[in-house]
Amino acid sequence: MDLKSYNFKNKRALVRVDFNVPIDNNGNVTDNTRIKMAIPTLDKILKDGGSIVLMSHLGRPNDEPNKEFSLSQIISSLEFLLEKKIIFCSDSISDESFKITKNLENGSVVLLENLRFHKEEKNGDKDFAQKLSNHGDVYVNDAFGTSHRAHSSTSLIANYFPNDKMFGLLIEKEISCVDKVLNSNLHPLTAIVGGAKVSSKITIILNLLEKVDHLIIGGGMAYTFIKAQNGLVGKSLVEDQYLDLALEILKKAADKDVKIHLPTDSLCCKEFSNDLEYNIRTIDLIPNDEMGLDIGPDSIKIFNNIIVNSSLILWNGPMGVFEMSNFQNGTISVANSIVEATKNKAFSLVGGGDSVAAINLFNMADKVSHVSTGGGAMLEYLEGKELPGLHAIRN
Ligand code: AMP
Repeated sequence: MDLKSYNFKNKRALVRVDFNVPIDNNGNVTDNTRIKMAIPTLDKILKDGGSIVLMSHLGRPNDEPNKEFSLSQIISSLEFLLEKKIIFCSDSISDESFKITKNLENGSVVLLENLRFHKEEKNGDKDFAQKLSNHGDVYVNDAFGTSHRAHSSTSLIANYFPNDKMFGLLIEKEISCVDKVLNSNLHPLTAIVGGAKVSSKITIILNLLEKVDHLIIGGGMAYTFIKAQNGLVGKSLVEDQYLDLALEILKKAADKDVKIHLPTDSLCCKEFSNDLEYNIRTIDLIPNDEMGLDIGPDSIKIFNNIIVNSSLILWNGPMGVFEMSNFQNGTISVANSIVEATKNKAFSLVGGGDSVAAINLFNMADKVSHVSTGGGAMLEYLEGKELPGLHAIRN
């Protein structure tokens, strides 16, 4: 069942959205991207002549009502973007809320209070899911960012709509973008993986080895691979318990004819600091008292050449400590190469945590093909896991 062909006329659509947006101390939404991304789905339902009941979480309220995490704070942003008045229910399963949603007029939009004010939401409680399901005639999941969680509103609730459940347009787009990268016949396919630790990306790397032509490894995790090959990495970030696994990954890549590209040089500093001098060092000749905090100019050239000649690009994780200005250049350069490749008709997907933060920081988000809204969800999808929120709709 798909949202575009479903007719919502006279139906109450219960829509799980991800309105987990940043809010400042004065209760103002400081980045409304996630609300904006939900609008196409909501517009379609309203255009058909249906009504909407929105449910979401916001922050981590410790399982009880807390003004600081109230979704009432997003009403004005939502009303502005949807160009419509919103009816707010101050509890997601109160008698009052059910009274409001029972006889909802077509064209109305209701926002339920933060689902995580009830501990049952995160516990994946069936009764809570069933109660929530009474708010709608049809269930739409458009919250990609929480689709890796088996919570009541993201997964269990779908059981109560066996014939009327579907993805929203945002989730559909997210899935189609990742699938386009992972399951396409276009080549060369290049994945760029960075960030702090190998340990958090092993499953992703192993899964990517089945798909990609080139795997670029940068960031802190590169030093574990260099040390595993007897390189001298000084005080750089290394996970000693993963040295053998790093060698295994290199061997597996060679067996599969996947080209792994590690940095050849590194910007090194005596401390984890932006205030000291730094040196360009050959990647496997880093002095004992220095640590590598970014990829160097030679690596940038090599990585750029591979990226601009790729047809499909997936980027997850920064090349260095991009939060410090001295060590941003590697990450900016990789982002620039991806932008250049995209201009030359490559499809580029940026997803998962810090690479999204980086691309936003450099104001390049609109210059790549897609930036994923789902941090953890995107990473788990790349690991090849079936996400509970997606499974619930598909089955
Ligand atoms: P992750 O959450 O695993 O994607 O890691 C992102 C973090 O890795 C960022 O905060 C970066 O500052 C950090 N990082 C990247 N390169 C290095 C490095 N060479 N040494 C230490 N931390 C790094």
